[in-house]
Formats: sequence, C-alpha cells, structure tokens
Amino acid sequence: MLNAIEPALEIALTDCRRIGQIAIQKLDDGVLALSHRDDETRNDLKLFHSPEDAIEIAKFDDTGNYRPLKTAPNLRRGWRLELATLDELRRALDYFYPGRLAVFAAWKSGRLRTTPLRDTLDRQSGMYRVAAKISDEQIDCVVGDFCRSDGGCLRTILWKRDKQGTVASTKLPPEKFDPAFDQVRAPTRSRSTIPATAIPLLCQEACNLLVAECRKVVKGE
Ligand code: SF4
Repeated sequence: MLNAIEPALEIALTDCRRIGQIAIQKLDDGVLALSHRDDETRNDLKLFHSPEDAIEIAKFDDTGNYRPLKTAPNLRRGWRLELATLDELRRALDYFYPGRLAVFAAWKSGRLRTTPLRDTLDRQSGMYRVAAKISDEQIDCVVGDFCRSDGGCLRTILWKRDKQGTVASTKLPPEKFDPAFDQVRAPTRSRSTIPATAIPLLCQEACNLLVAECRKVVKGE
C-alpha cells in the first residue's frame, strides 16, 4: 500500500495543493512548505523541519485543547513545516490526518471498501453494544450534527446508513458525500458550486467517536 500512496499523492499535488486545512507550496529549491491554509501569506510563522513535528502541531487547537478527532476543522495556526522530499511530506500528512492518504490512494484505484453505519454499530461489544439500538431519526440528528463540516469533521462521508444504501443523514447537504467538493469551503446547508481544490479526506466507515455519540443518544446522556 505504501508504494501506491506516493504516486497518488504526487499526481494529486499537480492539480491541487490543499488537503484538509493544510496548504502545500512547492518552493523554487524543491522544498515542500506546509502551513495552515489561512496562514499562506504570513511571514511570521514558527518554522519546523521534521515530519514528526506534525505530531505536536496537530495535537492541540489554538486554545490549547486536545484534538481527539484529527479531521476536525480546528487545526491550529502559526506554524510552517518545510520538508525536503515526497516521503517526508507523506509522513507528515499521515501525522496530520492519520490513514487518510492510504484511503485516498485506495479510493483512487477503485479498491476502497466502505462499511454501513448499522454494520459498524452491530459489531460493537461491551459498553458500546447498546449503540446499535439507535433509531433512524436519531442517526439523522447525530450524524448531521457530529459529522458536519462546519464545526464537526472535514471528512467526506462515503459510507451509507445501512445495507440498503440509505443516506448517512438527511440533515447533511449533498456535498458532504461528494469527494469532488472541498469540505473546508463547502457550505453545509445549501447546494454549492465550489469546485474541488483539495485532496479529499475520505471517511470509509464511522469512527469510534461517532459510535460513542450514538451510544450517548441511546443512553439519553
Ligand atoms: S464518522 Fe467520519 S465524518 Fe463522522 S466524525 Fe467520524 S471521521 Fe468524521
């Protein structure tokens, strides 16, 4: 899989230089410079040089709170990470957005499998088993709120609610399920005409945090 990621990344970077909230600039000397999208034109950024620096940068938001969901739209600002090679870029992006490049490469080659939410919930054990009792109406609300791009999560949802192919949530706009849309810029309540300008962060199955939210709703917490 590792072999497939770098070519997919290289091709993607010829069309767009964005992934999630990160902008990637290729400098004249070949250096790859990463920053928060909103910091691209700033020249007072704190400089980093190692892919592993991404671990710390991604850990807390601007107010110092831990970021349990790395694809939440709260990446901190004020940094610039300069990298020498495509391999270093791949590693850094994997720290910023764990697993997303591998999923992107699998999706590009038509090998990505998705799991319906109800299957994910049905296979839970222990204290999360009860999450499977969630109703369709509750799923609409929980997914619509927790996964929304404006304040929730920047991933594009590819999974369905059930094996019948029901949409994950009727509360989310069509763009939320379309990899061609840039979730950082896509409005969430109305149809958008904004074209793709970013490598999509794809969601192939519900994350543990969403499962935990489903459990909370069932438990009435
Ligand atoms: S289920 Fe996917 S889209 Fe929803 S919050 Fe988790 S990672 Fe993001």
